[in-house]
Amino acid sequence: MSTELRVINPSNEELVTNLHLLDEHETDLAIERSKKAGVSWRAVSPADRARLLRRFAEVVDSHVEELAKIEVTNSGHTISNALWEAGNVRDVIAYYSASPERLFGRQIPVAGGLDVTFREPIGVVGVIVPWNFPMPIASWGFAPALAAGNTVVLKPAELTPMTAMRIGELALEAGIPQDVFQVLVGKGSVVGWRFVTNESVKKVCFTGSTEVGKAIMAGAAEQVKRVTLELGGKSANIIFADSDLDKAAASAPMSVFDNAGQDCCARTRILVQQSVYDSFMDKFERAVKAVRVLEPMDENSQMGPLISSQQREVVASYVDESEVLFRGSAPDGPGFWFPPTVVRPKSPKSPVFCEEVFGPVVAVVPFRDEEEAIRIANDTPYGLSGSIWTRDVGKAIRVARGVETGALSVNSHSSVRYSTPFGGFKQSGLGRELGPDALDSFTEVKNVFISTED
Ligand code: NAP
Ligand code: MG
Repeated sequence: MSTELRVINPSNEELVTNLHLLDEHETDLAIERSKKAGVSWRAVSPADRARLLRRFAEVVDSHVEELAKIEVTNSGHTISNALWEAGNVRDVIAYYSASPERLFGRQIPVAGGLDVTFREPIGVVGVIVPWNFPMPIASWGFAPALAAGNTVVLKPAELTPMTAMRIGELALEAGIPQDVFQVLVGKGSVVGWRFVTNESVKKVCFTGSTEVGKAIMAGAAEQVKRVTLELGGKSANIIFADSDLDKAAASAPMSVFDNAGQDCCARTRILVQQSVYDSFMDKFERAVKAVRVLEPMDENSQMGPLISSQQREVVASYVDESEVLFRGSAPDGPGFWFPPTVVRPKSPKSPVFCEEVFGPVVAVVPFRDEEEAIRIANDTPYGLSGSIWTRDVGKAIRVARGVETGALSVNSHSSVRYSTPFGGFKQSGLGRELGPDALDSFTEVKNVFISTED
């Protein structure tokens, strides 16, 4: 088996660098170092751990541009997105830097003594990151994990290891002790799977495909290992007749084509109330054709290429079996480019309407009324995010309560804020990241009773 990894720039297909892939033995050695480092890391006082994380956030802040440029080269993200992503890493670390001093337990009234709870670190946490948002998704795992007193081994996706490696260096520069946070470049089936099987890893935090997520959950059962899973999505953008149709149509393209559609929160199913369907589609077509698919370093670029030629083949296969309504543009020449594409599914069972495409493809269907909109939105094994467009507050709340997903937005498309919880219903995942909830996933509650009997 090759131990060399060729990292390719997806916007021009040029070689970025060659990297060494860790084998199982090297992974085990890193995990053992992580376990050893945990002994002193958990003994660092809360105030000092907070200070170190604040310094880490500051060091990331002074490298935002550098990190963004690395991401543009490695992942083909637009420079404006990549700057946001690097800034998100800084913000997530800064947010959780407040946690070490606020990991409150409880004091519970009981007879005969004092009862208190502690939130203890779990130990070595393995974070497995996909290629679609290499920087933010890494930080959603490592920042709360470190804040709660765990040590972290982080495996970036093979396709996109460059920013994670740099963030690992910045952690050391900020004074995070050696081996507390290690970035391990290797294959999912080797390094990632070792996080599942090595008994020194006490928790796996995985983001990626539902298929691999299920295998990790099954594998973790062997040791009753803790897991957080962030998996796929097939989110609905529900547009009612009483909404601000101009705003709904203008914002719909980037709710699915952002990051070239390689986003688990992408609103890949647009549900439009029948009475405004034609009017919405006119406006939507103009908005899709105006999306600027340009070289990612261009500040005007709204959408870059797909991550790999393989991903482009997968995406194209969904379009081949659909009725294309209209498309945007994409550059010719080298790079894994794919134009924004709008399709009508041939049936409600069409793969393009049911499966996660992970490319710039959206399927549009009409609905009659509120009840049918909720039924269609929920007719999927996924439940990650979604949007609701209406001016009727009561309807917005009824539909938001009716749609079975973890993160909804009304009259906007936001899914992710570092201060609010994010995660999936149904097969979109298990557990919550970000916000105050994430700390629950990286601590064990310990109850201690102290007798006051004489
Ligand atoms: P994937 O296989 O699930 O990969 C995600 C991460 O898991 C990568 O770091 C991967 O490593 C690692 N991995 C793969 N097999 C593993 C195993 N047996 N044990 C432990 N870790 C393992 O996803 P993909 O193949 O890149 O993408 C396939 C599809 O998944 C996409 O088209 C999309 O539909 C979906 N996806 C969803 C998300 C999301 O955010 N929910 C993200 C990415 C992909 P290596 O890649 O380095 O081998
Ligand atoms: Mg895979």
